[in-house]
Amino acid sequence: MSIKIAGVSKKYKKGKLALDNVNLEVGKGMFGLLGPNGAGKSTLIRILASLDEPTSGRVEINGLDVVGKRQEVRKMLGYLPQDFRFVPPVSTWDFLDYCLTLSSGLKKKERNALIEEMLREVALYEVRKKRADKLSGGMKRRLGIAQALIHQPSIIIVDEPTTGLDPDERIRFRNLITKVCQKEVTVLLSTHIVGDISSTCTDLAILNQGHIEFQGSPKDMTALAAGHVWRMDVGMEGLEEIKHKYQVISTMPMENGWQVEVVAEELDGHTGEFIPPNLEHAYVYFMECRERIAV
Ligand code: ADP
Repeated sequence: MSIKIAGVSKKYKKGKLALDNVNLEVGKGMFGLLGPNGAGKSTLIRILASLDEPTSGRVEINGLDVVGKRQEVRKMLGYLPQDFRFVPPVSTWDFLDYCLTLSSGLKKKERNALIEEMLREVALYEVRKKRADKLSGGMKRRLGIAQALIHQPSIIIVDEPTTGLDPDERIRFRNLITKVCQKEVTVLLSTHIVGDISSTCTDLAILNQGHIEFQGSPKDMTALAAGHVWRMDVGMEGLEEIKHKYQVISTMPMENGWQVEVVAEELDGHTGEFIPPNLEHAYVYFMECRERIAV
């Protein structure tokens, strides 16, 4: 199970370079593609899902070229697009049956067994007769996962999965993905939300302005921010200056001012207590101080 991205660039007809010589290798397990809005994540994901072609470079999924072997590649892929909202007005069960009929040559009895198992796994069995287009946002997202997984793909690509979900649904979704990943599969999860990755991925890359700027484990990335995160107490009047000088991660009101957590290369005229960085701190440090970090 692998995804190999070699020298991939993408230029849209009316636009700038959305991907600029991207090189990435993704093996078995859960891989996070992290980057701000506009970084090029969806562009890359659409190329991986063989819905678009690179301007130059090559992508291989399990050794097959995504452009030349489109049909074979699609059979191995499960894809959950960012905007999985528009489902037809049929029952949840019939929708999955339709997806499975398209992607497999299975007979009805075999399809039924797979659909029931999948609906139970994503906790939608109770609503199997309900119209798919009438499900709640979180349920639709779980149906999206079900349609991506129902044909048992070895590579699963998920684009911005938790955007718009409430905190409960977000946690439920992350747990579901982690469960899927216990099987022998590759999951590539693209997101701008650090929490989606910190709780699930063993390996990650940062994409920014079309470039891969980091690849490694969450631990490697967190280590980059060690010694650059502080907690400090600030008087009532001091907050604006702190916000102006540093990246403020959190602000807690106190009796005589604020307790703030900041990320910076170094403090400038302030004192604070070092705190151990987490992945969110590291991401902020990386994005804000990246010219100064050699990776
Ligand atoms: P992300 O998914 O990280 O938010 P995108 O891949 O959607 O990033 O976009 C990357 C860049 O490509 C952005 O500058 C965006 O405006 C541009 N872009 C995306 N899709 C198109 C398109 N169809 N035509 C022209 N430019 C596009």
